[in-house]
Amino acid sequence: MTKEELTIEIMDRLEKEYPVAGCTLDYNQAWKLLVSVRLAAQCTDARVNIVVQGLYEKYPDINSLAEADVDEIEEIVRPCGLGRSKARDISACMKMLRDEYDGRIPDDFDALLKLPGVGRKSANLIMGDVFGKPAIVTDTHCIRLVNRMGLVDGIKEPKKVEMALWKLVPPEKGSDFCHRLVYHGRDICTARTKPHCDKCCLQDICAKNIL
Ligand code: SF4
Repeated sequence: MTKEELTIEIMDRLEKEYPVAGCTLDYNQAWKLLVSVRLAAQCTDARVNIVVQGLYEKYPDINSLAEADVDEIEEIVRPCGLGRSKARDISACMKMLRDEYDGRIPDDFDALLKLPGVGRKSANLIMGDVFGKPAIVTDTHCIRLVNRMGLVDGIKEPKKVEMALWKLVPPEKGSDFCHRLVYHGRDICTARTKPHCDKCCLQDICAKNIL
């Protein structure tokens, strides 16, 4: 099987396994996903989903968060870790959205990258989930799984993994595929324990198992 064929086969099987693909961060407005994805660095999505409830109770929109004292944001987001830098980025990002984008989220990858605290992973997540555009989100699960599966060979740097996957994954399916990798990485192809290959729908085609 070529890498392209393997990719399509893996995508098909994961789609059957996890028919509904979506982001595990809760949000009902695009700017909230930007906040959550910044908070999610080195933190679980479950914890972020709890912490943002308190944040939005106090600051329900971009303007109020842009005007908020950074110390007060930090106080609320501290349970997510890296509180100071996350609070600073969130504050600066909301100010930029307010001042330069009239409170809207730009639907342009390069413009998203210029927002404070937004890297390629976050920009891709926004492009895929908010705007329904092609996206490859290379988070820790994605990087671990595509290496194990043999879609990339020993590449750990997120941007390099992203570039390799752009060559293999049909663009319109990239966002859902990456969400499914997260589900599979949490449930089956786990990081901290031995992966549960005996329960995996990919066990007969996964490089980790057959090489
Ligand atoms: S077979 Fe094992 S290593 Fe491969 S994807 Fe499944 S759980 Fe992960």
